[in-house]
Amino acid sequence: MNAQQHKPSLSVETIEWTPESLKQASAKLEGSSPEAILRWGFENFAPSIVLATGFGPEGIVLMHLVSQIRPETIVFYLDTDLLFSQTYELRDELVGRLGIRFERVHSGISLPEQAFRHGDTLWAHDPDTCCQIRKVIPQRQFLANYSAWITAIRRDQTAFRANTGLVEWDYANKMVKFNPLAGWTSEQVWDHIHTNNLPYNPLHDYGYPSIGCWTCTKSVAAGADPRSGRWAGQSKDECGIHLPTIKK
Ligand code: SF4
Repeated sequence: MNAQQHKPSLSVETIEWTPESLKQASAKLEGSSPEAILRWGFENFAPSIVLATGFGPEGIVLMHLVSQIRPETIVFYLDTDLLFSQTYELRDELVGRLGIRFERVHSGISLPEQAFRHGDTLWAHDPDTCCQIRKVIPQRQFLANYSAWITAIRRDQTAFRANTGLVEWDYANKMVKFNPLAGWTSEQVWDHIHTNNLPYNPLHDYGYPSIGCWTCTKSVAAGADPRSGRWAGQSKDECGIHLPTIKK
């Protein structure tokens, strides 16, 4: 498998990236700083590389680093029409503070249209389909224009994420995926935010350690699993954008 075959806009001419060569590259990068991983990613894939954010604290750290290393990088977010108002306000603050170039990725399907097709509150009776419509498919279509993407996931967030590589082949999107903060802890993330006086979603200070759509996010008790407020009461802990295969 070859990234260049899938995405002809890839800027590197000689390296043929395969899942195996990416594993080797990830092993060599192990122990490197997120800055060094990002620089390596930009050297090999710019301009065909984008940063994804859901406006969590990890994404703030990456936006801060990217604004210093390659400020012209496009940062995209999935606008489900169901984000908290505080999230939209944080987006606008980041434009002013860090000069981020945001790209809004949207399903093209309004909430009334979704309700007409699937019934009201699809997120309550079939959250997988709702995430598929409002997140997974729009993201897949957007990423088809690029060779690599950068995510903010960390290994200690969920059992599924425990084996995340610093760089790896994304089988679902058929492209390269960077996870520069995979080896960081939540404490390191917050240290970086406070040390650099970066903005963050104020809901984090009110019992919301992980924030998604307001319809599927609840506050959690102190000391609880930080992601237990996402899809609480349902057997779901990933929206699907980081799963290795795409549901049909
Ligand atoms: S998080 Fe909830 S509301 Fe948002 S897209 Fe997924 S199921 Fe729908």
